[in-house]
Amino acid sequence: MIRDSFSGHGGSEVIFLEEIPLSWQGLLEAMPDGAAIMDHHGIMHNVNDVLSRMTGYTREELVGQHVQILVPPRLSDVEGEARREYLDDPANRIIWNDRELYVLRKDGTEIPIDFAMSPITADGKLWAMGSIRDNRAQRRAERARVEAEQHFRLAFEDNMAPMVLTDRQNCAFAVNSAFLNLIGRTREEIIGSDSKLFTYPDDNGMSEGSHEQMLAGEIDHVRYVKRYLHKDGRMIIAEVSKTPARDDAGNILYFIISERDITEERNLTEQLSHQALHDPMTGLANRALFEDRLTQAKARVERQGGNCALFLIDLDDFKSVNDTHGHLVGDDLLVQVAHRLIGASRSSDTLCRFGGDEFLCLAEGIAGEEEMELIAARLLEVISHPTEIGRLTIEQRASLGAVMWGDHCADDLDVVHDADVALYEAKRLGKGRYVVYESGMHQWVVAENSLANQLRSALGDNELSMHYQPIVQLSTGRVVGMEALMRWRHPERGWVPPDVFIALAEQSDLIMDFGEFALHEAISTATSWKSPGSSVIEPYVTVNMSARQFHDPELVALIERELAECELPGDRLIIEITESAALFEISDTLNMIERLRNLGVGVALDDFGTGFSSLAYLARLNPIIIKIDQSFVRSSNESLHDDRLLETIVSLGNNLGMTVLAEGIETTDQLKRLQDYSCTLGQGFLFSPAVPSSETVKLIARTFKV
Ligand code: C2E
Ligand code: MG
Ligand code: MG
Repeated sequence: MIRDSFSGHGGSEVIFLEEIPLSWQGLLEAMPDGAAIMDHHGIMHNVNDVLSRMTGYTREELVGQHVQILVPPRLSDVEGEARREYLDDPANRIIWNDRELYVLRKDGTEIPIDFAMSPITADGKLWAMGSIRDNRAQRRAERARVEAEQHFRLAFEDNMAPMVLTDRQNCAFAVNSAFLNLIGRTREEIIGSDSKLFTYPDDNGMSEGSHEQMLAGEIDHVRYVKRYLHKDGRMIIAEVSKTPARDDAGNILYFIISERDITEERNLTEQLSHQALHDPMTGLANRALFEDRLTQAKARVERQGGNCALFLIDLDDFKSVNDTHGHLVGDDLLVQVAHRLIGASRSSDTLCRFGGDEFLCLAEGIAGEEEMELIAARLLEVISHPTEIGRLTIEQRASLGAVMWGDHCADDLDVVHDADVALYEAKRLGKGRYVVYESGMHQWVVAENSLANQLRSALGDNELSMHYQPIVQLSTGRVVGMEALMRWRHPERGWVPPDVFIALAEQSDLIMDFGEFALHEAISTATSWKSPGSSVIEPYVTVNMSARQFHDPELVALIERELAECELPGDRLIIEITESAALFEISDTLNMIERLRNLGVGVALDDFGTGFSSLAYLARLNPIIIKIDQSFVRSSNESLHDDRLLETIVSLGNNLGMTVLAEGIETTDQLKRLQDYSCTLGQGFLFSPAVPSSETVKLIARTFKV
């Protein structure tokens, strides 16, 4: 019919409207909502089936009724309002879908509704069509949405995990408290501000790529580790997980970022891996890390050219620090040495604690020999500064072997071994110095080893002998004693210095045989010494003794036997021990001194001042002679301070009732000074070097000019 009217009247609205009254009912029934047509007074003229069903009234019960019967009394104003609004401008449509409206059903129950009202003109008369829609489902959905939002808000805000919501531009628009705690900032500082403020500088922009990929739909989730900058400057490491939140159509609305603070975890891991690669005591690299660095350095040199140098450092006589002061002091010293080495090397160098008192320094980019030697000298120099440990002052020296290599070196180059060979040579030359490895040095070491072998046969082959250096009374110039010094004349090498062969002998039991030989020779030679005047006491002989020999339980018996055999009175023998030998197992030393004293044999403390003597120990040891090391006599020439030091040591010994002997007097100046300081005895080239036993009698008869 409608179509007819369209075709018949060319689509004119007037004609269409004319026919409307006939189709009202059909129109109403076609609507999904409950609907009624009302006049200006609010009387319902037509209703549809949906409205009947919604309200529980029949069509007949509704038609002719005022719409008010469908309005809960408390909302009667609303009906009035709607009608007024409509009457003010009937052309207006009223749509109320955001109000809490209800329809009152016949049974008195209510249904929540949305409400709309539109004007309808028919027969020149204006009607109002009202419609109501049951919005329970919609309200439920709305409630669910609000609740879900609340839940999310709670889950977000109260989440222990730091969380951030960012928009499509990756700008944060919401953060939770855990995140604020994580980086120590306020919400205001974060929302809308540049993330550079709280991102660790190196990590700025690191997540941009993945953000773009997510926007492009290439990935749906991303995890990464990011570093933040805490407000207090700390670096925070976080594991980040980022997921987009989408609408029903799958469009990305925003991003949910959830984080986990892994700073401590990382630090612990780092600490563990540090521990695996570093020496726990000094914090320096351990062998494993060093070897790795060395391999890399070798590869780099091969690729890029340039030179690498390796320095192997060994503390001289470190064992005696441990023996004398205990391991805690020894450990402390090692730590301090490590710190000094760090201070003396470049940050790119690798420092390694290679063994007990051995350190390695690997330096890349060395210009040449000259630079290598400068570094070697500097490393030794920093170690040699006196170290304060508690109330102790320790002067530690070290020896160093250095080796340098460039890109032309052979693949199987064992630089550590080469450095070791050079170090060995440095030790052999008297310690406290560095030696640069030269090819061929290996052979010397082999030679050194064969020297040790030859030393074994030296005694049997009569290559050892004792020489004697006079001990002179500085006030009279008379010889009061002789120091027995061992000599080895090697069949090919000639005289080998005692510092070298005694050290070699000390590495094995040979030293015990040597010691016995020295005692026997010295005692038997001394029997032949007669003093020129009968009133004067005959000169004594002093014999040097290594620590091992001195602590040998058989020593006293041996001495007693030798003295008896040669009929030499005990008071003509003095045993020289160094400070470190004396302080090693001090109670044992005191016991030994006591037993020797019972035989009349005295003890002299040799090389006094070079060890770790403390005054308390000196008083307990109570040696009859202290021998001031020649280094003090020598340096007294050089500075007033050293001269004062010499004077102090002499007067110290005098005040403690010990006889003070100065070693290494070479000039009359030195002699004069020592006399001024009331030093009793002296030895040195000024008087005489050590001479063979055959020349001793003649020497004793002399009176030196003093
Ligand atoms: P020491 O006991 O301190 O011996 C003194 C060293 O100073 C000797 O060196 C002596 O020759 C040297 N000397 C003496 N007067 C002068 C001088 O005016 N100027 C200089 N520059 N040096 C002087 P030597 O004979 O080479 O002995 C070195 C060290 O070897 C000795 O130091 C001692 O510790 C050890 N030694 C020597 N013989 C024996 C021995 O029979 N047994 C043991 N265990 N050690 C010995
Ligand atoms: Mg000596
Ligand atoms: Mg000495």
